[in-house]
Amino acid sequence: MTRRRGQQALQEAERAKDARWRYAVRNPTFRSELRELSELFQVDSKEARKKYRAFLLKWRFQDISETVVRGFTRPDLTTDEERLLYLDSSRWGILSRPVVAMSDPSEDMPWVGFIVDTSHPRDVLLADFGASLDRFMPKRRVRRRSDKTEFYLAVYDRALDGQTFAKIAAALRRSISTVKSAYLTARRHIFGRAGGLSKTRAPLAGFEQDHIETCLICRKAQKVEDMCPAARTYVSEA
Ligand SMILES: [Zn+2]
Repeated sequence: MTRRRGQQALQEAERAKDARWRYAVRNPTFRSELRELSELFQVDSKEARKKYRAFLLKWRFQDISETVVRGFTRPDLTTDEERLLYLDSSRWGILSRPVVAMSDPSEDMPWVGFIVDTSHPRDVLLADFGASLDRFMPKRRVRRRSDKTEFYLAVYDRALDGQTFAKIAAALRRSISTVKSAYLTARRHIFGRAGGLSKTRAPLAGFEQDHIETCLICRKAQKVEDMCPAARTYVSEA
């Protein structure tokens, strides 16, 4: 499905939600229950919230903004026409996302739970899920580069075999400094970061390359054993 079609599908879902709301607010039972709820919110928020959930279930809305509910009994709305106009123009506060993320992922806890409204068509769900992913993915600082794994491991295995960095670089057709930083990266992936998982002690992203480019000892190193102590203890093997 193209992104454009996905966007269209989402807009259709939004329109369907708006339509459902506009029909509901013309139902007298709906309006009188909403009024009760609105009045209850003024006196007992806790009880109101309980009833509010039952109200959502009964009328099959995912979420109605509390502001919209409270506003329904605003004193400046004096006639039924005004109140209806108010509800009609409150569509912004009626939530009906096909896919809702229940948490924010982080580097350490990358898992996200979603609730999915299966009453929507499949392409709407996929489009909204894609939009959710777009929101989450750019935040990720560390991304596994599986295409590079092959290269990192080739460097690591050859280095362990005792090959010089120059020989590895020639064999893999990469620069010597790239090979050296790849060696450090491979070690980090294999053994973990120095000092365990502590974020504060973990080296910054990009350490490998920076180090190889600036460390005089490592720049001259022909083999792993020639690298400086900092580079060799860069990861703990414990
Ligand atoms: Zn060094």
